[in-house]
Amino acid sequence: MLDELRQIVTEVSKSADLRAALDLIARRVQSALDASVCSVYVLSDESAPEAGDHVLVLQATEGLNKAMIGHVSLALEEGLVGQVARRAELINLEDASRHSAFKFVTDIGEEPYHGFMGVPIIHRGEVLGVLVVQARERRRFSEDQESFVVTLATQLASALRHARASGELMRTGNEPGEFDSAFSARGLPGSPGVVFGTAVVVADGYSLELVESREVDDIDHELAVLDSAIEAVRQEFEQLKIDFARASGSEEENLLFDAFIRMLSGGSLVEGIEQHIRAGNCAPAALRDAIAEHAAVFEQMSDAYLRERAQDIRDLGNRILQKLHAESAGPCEWPEQIVLVGADLSASHLAEVPTERLVGIVSSTGSGSSHLAILARALGVPAAMGVSDLPMTRLRNKEVVVDGYRGLVVVRPRGSLREEFMRLAREEAELTEELAALRDEPALTSDGVRVAMHVNIGLLSDMAPSLTVGAEGIGLYRTEVPFQIRKQFPGEDEQAHIYREALETFAGKPVVLRTLDVGGDKPLSYFPIREDNPFLGWRGIRLVLDHPEIFLTQLRAMLKAAAGLNNLHILLPMISAVDELDQSLAYIAQAVDEVSDEIGDLQAPKVGAMIEVPSAVYQADALASRCDFLSIGTNDLTQYLLAIDRNNERVASRYDALHPAVLTAIRDVCAAGARHDCQVAVCGELAGDPMGAVLLLGMGINSLSMSAGSLPRIKWVIRCFSYTEARELLERAMQCERPREIRALLTQALEDRGLGGLIRAGRY
Ligand code: PEP
Ligand code: MG
Repeated sequence: MLDELRQIVTEVSKSADLRAALDLIARRVQSALDASVCSVYVLSDESAPEAGDHVLVLQATEGLNKAMIGHVSLALEEGLVGQVARRAELINLEDASRHSAFKFVTDIGEEPYHGFMGVPIIHRGEVLGVLVVQARERRRFSEDQESFVVTLATQLASALRHARASGELMRTGNEPGEFDSAFSARGLPGSPGVVFGTAVVVADGYSLELVESREVDDIDHELAVLDSAIEAVRQEFEQLKIDFARASGSEEENLLFDAFIRMLSGGSLVEGIEQHIRAGNCAPAALRDAIAEHAAVFEQMSDAYLRERAQDIRDLGNRILQKLHAESAGPCEWPEQIVLVGADLSASHLAEVPTERLVGIVSSTGSGSSHLAILARALGVPAAMGVSDLPMTRLRNKEVVVDGYRGLVVVRPRGSLREEFMRLAREEAELTEELAALRDEPALTSDGVRVAMHVNIGLLSDMAPSLTVGAEGIGLYRTEVPFQIRKQFPGEDEQAHIYREALETFAGKPVVLRTLDVGGDKPLSYFPIREDNPFLGWRGIRLVLDHPEIFLTQLRAMLKAAAGLNNLHILLPMISAVDELDQSLAYIAQAVDEVSDEIGDLQAPKVGAMIEVPSAVYQADALASRCDFLSIGTNDLTQYLLAIDRNNERVASRYDALHPAVLTAIRDVCAAGARHDCQVAVCGELAGDPMGAVLLLGMGINSLSMSAGSLPRIKWVIRCFSYTEARELLERAMQCERPREIRALLTQALEDRGLGGLIRAGRY
């Protein structure tokens, strides 16, 4: 049964559209369970105005009256099917007609059936529909059959969600007027703002499972496209072989490259793909099918090693797919207003786009605290993150609207919806203009408390926007970013040159250079780290303490860069134990001695520890007593306190820096700082969040560092509150047990002061 299951899921993912997918499910499940009927009911989605109006619509059946497809709809309160969806629970009955919830539906042809099993189709907590199997006789489906359908339903859920999204998008591709509702998908807020733009799709995350079938007429063209994609991949492997030989790569890797090169130089794989093309399929779908056939051969082998090679074949297929995709994209002409769309987008993808045209970012992965979202906020560009339901390849060159407040992406909006988004985008632009006028004003509360407004930067190019928004210093320079965009560790002079530019630009103002914070989700291509649990692994300070040569080079570069300027602050990331801080301080002292010997007397820099793991919160007194300042990294602190991966969109709705536990931790760190006369700053994204900034102000934090795009917004917030009001709000927030209660409290406080435009689309 397992094979059958796998086969059905594969076939569903190949279906041309939602209708075909549902028909296939009904047909295959009916036959696999030897049932009389299999039907799929799909919950009508956002098109229903209120959640209460949701209905289950019969969308496919094998065994019942097909003429009723699309015409039978059941309210959630109705019948056994409604009960399965409402309770999100399986029902398996020998005789459905005897159950109290049974409802007879006319014209559907259900009269003769008794045995009934209904299984909810659930995707990430959302019921999408119900899969129903029925038997003519009185029969309870077996436990094995229950497991089969439950497993199938879990696997179908995401395919169904994706197919539904693709289907809707295809409809919007029709002539205007034929369908007046736009396709939209919801992810997570990434960076605030509302913009219109043209989708430019980066295909790195495009994989064979996402390929859709498409019939083609020009077979020769498809064959030619395939040929050049294969040749490009073959050359890549030839080059990789040479590179690996130079780096004395393993024998196994070499053999693998040879095997791939052979496969790409003709033979059954290439012939298989060509055959599928000659049968009329497009090159990507032909590739998908041929790879699936080849992988299946390996999967059936008894030898475990050979079985694992199936994955290598799929990886090879995905590599060819990327090339095919690049071929079909043709030469790139950048649209005027670019919305960059992709999976696993990174700083290097952004670097390829003309920055002045980049107006929005949509990522199918990640969350608001991923580094990509942080980058978007630095650029002041709206971003939607974790929008996993987007059929990305179909978005290319389409007009999209990004609402970064809600993480919403709307494709080709029409009519009144379009006008509404136009209004919101206009108001957003006005707001940005108004905020620009605050550039030279201080962040001063109405009762005279002054907050220092610093920026977080990663590249020297971030400095221009920092100056435009009137930053009063750099509160966090993520020095790993210049390391990440290079091909090898930058040397002492190269680093000193980079740091000098930041220190000089902000001469007379504090510049906080954080030491290398790689590991976790910040890899260095030339220093690969393979770990099962990278976020709990060799990260930040742990790595550089194990590599003093890297650490000392960086410290010396920082000290040399600061000569004569005396505005250097060194910040140590991921400190989780006092020993780590002591060792770091010793290395800093050593570097100060060395550099003093070289260039003469040197003023010792101020040194701070980041508070971003729970142990540092509990040892804040010990850390504060050894440091000049503490800087709270709320992004990681939230991740580690709540045990929620900051980049995982599946759990992103649970990741909340306004969680009472996080706020309590920050308040305790502030108290420890005060006890030791050690300044406490916040450089995590909470500082750039209007709600967070009010609470941090209430805690007495008077140094905030954030993305340049957030700075004017937070300045406005601080100028609209008094310190006393912020303290009162904090007191009330600390009484709450749930993040959502805290959000409600602060939403009201911001709306009351006319600041609602900072937390939602639209000015008023
Ligand atoms: C943080 O964790 O809050 C922080 C500022 O560091 P990063 O986001 O670079 O991990
Ligand atoms: Mg961090």
